[in-house]
Amino acid sequence: MDFLLITMKLVKYFPENNVISSNINEDQAFEFVSRLKLTNKKSIYEFARGIDNDGILNVIYKENRVFRTKNVWYEKRAISVLSKLHNYDFYHSYKLEWKGFDTEIDAISLDKKIAVEIKRKKLNNKNIDFLEEKAYSLGFEKLIIIAPKFNSVNKKDNTQLFQFRPSYLPILRYYNNEYIVWKTFWKNSAQRHFRFLLANGRWKPQRRRYTNTSKWQAANRLIKEINYYHHKYVNPIKIYYSLSRHIGPLNEFEGKGYPISRYIAAFDIDGEHLGNHIIGDVGYCENCRKDAINKKNAFLKYLNKNGFEFEVFNSGAKGYHIYLTRNKEILELGQEEMENIIKDNLDYVDSFLSKKTQEFDQHRIFKVPYTVDGSTGYIVSNEEKKIIFDDELVKL
Ligand SMILES: [Zn+2]
Repeated sequence: MDFLLITMKLVKYFPENNVISSNINEDQAFEFVSRLKLTNKKSIYEFARGIDNDGILNVIYKENRVFRTKNVWYEKRAISVLSKLHNYDFYHSYKLEWKGFDTEIDAISLDKKIAVEIKRKKLNNKNIDFLEEKAYSLGFEKLIIIAPKFNSVNKKDNTQLFQFRPSYLPILRYYNNEYIVWKTFWKNSAQRHFRFLLANGRWKPQRRRYTNTSKWQAANRLIKEINYYHHKYVNPIKIYYSLSRHIGPLNEFEGKGYPISRYIAAFDIDGEHLGNHIIGDVGYCENCRKDAINKKNAFLKYLNKNGFEFEVFNSGAKGYHIYLTRNKEILELGQEEMENIIKDNLDYVDSFLSKKTQEFDQHRIFKVPYTVDGSTGYIVSNEEKKIIFDDELVKL
C-alpha cells in the first residue's frame, strides 16, 4: 500500500458487525456521496455518512491528522518556493465548503484569486479535472497544481501545472560540514532514545546507541545515520530525542525503553492564532510566531524571577525550545520539578502532562538541538539560521 495516496477513509458497515474500510481520494469521495442517501454526521471527523442502494451504512472519514502532519513539510516547501517565484504569500490549508461538504484548498493567494493544490502523488487527467472543477466552481480565477509527476498535461488555460523537486543536498551538506556539537547535550546520549521522521512520512528508530568513545563522538554516530538514510533515498525531515533517559533506549521506539524519571529540562513554546495561517518565503506563519514570542517572553520572566539560567533555541518552525542550564550545563530535573514548572506556566508552555493523571509524560520527545527542520530549513539553535533549499518548481 502506498500511504501517500491515502487522503480519506471509506467505511462500510455491513450487518453482523462486518466492517470493510478502504482508502479513497477526495475526488472519489465526492463521486461516492452522490450515490448515497445522506444522514446527519456524528462527529467532526466525518466527511459524510449515508445509506447506499443496498441499505448499507457508509461513513467517509476526513483525512487523518497524523497522516496529514507527515506531508506538511512537502506542502510548506512547495508553497515557500511558489511564494518566492511570485513574490507573494499564501494562506495554508484554507478551509471552505463545497457542494455542502467541508473541504480544503492546500493554499490560496491572499487576494483569494489563486488556488493552489499540492498533491504528493502522480496526477492523471481525472485528478486534474476534479481539482479544476473544484477551484473554478468556487470562484477562483487561476489554479496552480503542484505534484511530483503528471500522467497528463491536459488542462484549462488558467491552470498551471508545476512539477516539484525538493532537494535534500543542502541539508546533508550542513550535517556533514557545519553541524555544531553542543557538548552538554551529548553527555548522556547513550541513554537517550533517538528517532527520525523520514521524508516518506515513516518513523525510524536509531539503529544503535549514540555512545561517546575515545574514537567516536556520539554526535558523529547521528550524522552517520543521517547519511545512511540519505543513501537509502529516505531523507530525515525531523530528528527527535527523548527528554528522559532510558534503560533500553533502542526499545523506546516501541514505548518499552523503561524511562528513568530524570528529564532534560526543556520546554516547548508554540504559537497559535485564530484564522488562516499565512506562509510565504520564510516557511512559517508570522502571526503564529508573534504569539510564540509573547509566550516566550512571559515564560522567561518567570524563569528569571525564580533564578533559573536558560538557553533559548528556536524550534525550527514558529516556536521556541527553552533549555534550563546551570553553569552552561543542561539541567536534568525529576518528575515533580518538571510538573511544577509546567503547571505554573500552562498559558505559555506546551503541557507535557497526561490529561488523565496530570503527570509528566515520560515518553516525551523533542527535536535534537542543531538539527534542521526539513519543512522550513531552520536550524534548531540559539540563532535564526536557515538552510537555503534549492528546491525546484518546474512549469509544465
Ligand atoms: Zn498562524
